[in-house]
Amino acid sequence: MAEDRITFKCTDCGHAVVIDQSKPPKDDDILKCFGCGREFGPYKTVKAAMIKAGKSEIEKMVFKAFGKKPVWKKG
Ligand SMILES: [Zn+2]
Repeated sequence: MAEDRITFKCTDCGHAVVIDQSKPPKDDDILKCFGCGREFGPYKTVKAAMIKAGKSEIEKMVFKAFGKKPVWKKG
């Protein structure tokens, strides 16, 4: 089952970046694209930006891909 994962595309190369919510990165871990090595910044920043800017879009994306909505945890 893949419902605990969030995937978004690298803005540079389009490679899929996967966040496994069952073992999420630490807030200070730097998220990197495995395709081109681009750094997206600390997980907490990426997470905040995703939730702020695109929560509904991400939900739609995840729902389309997995048939389930992602679970958003507070804190
Ligand atoms: Zn990339």
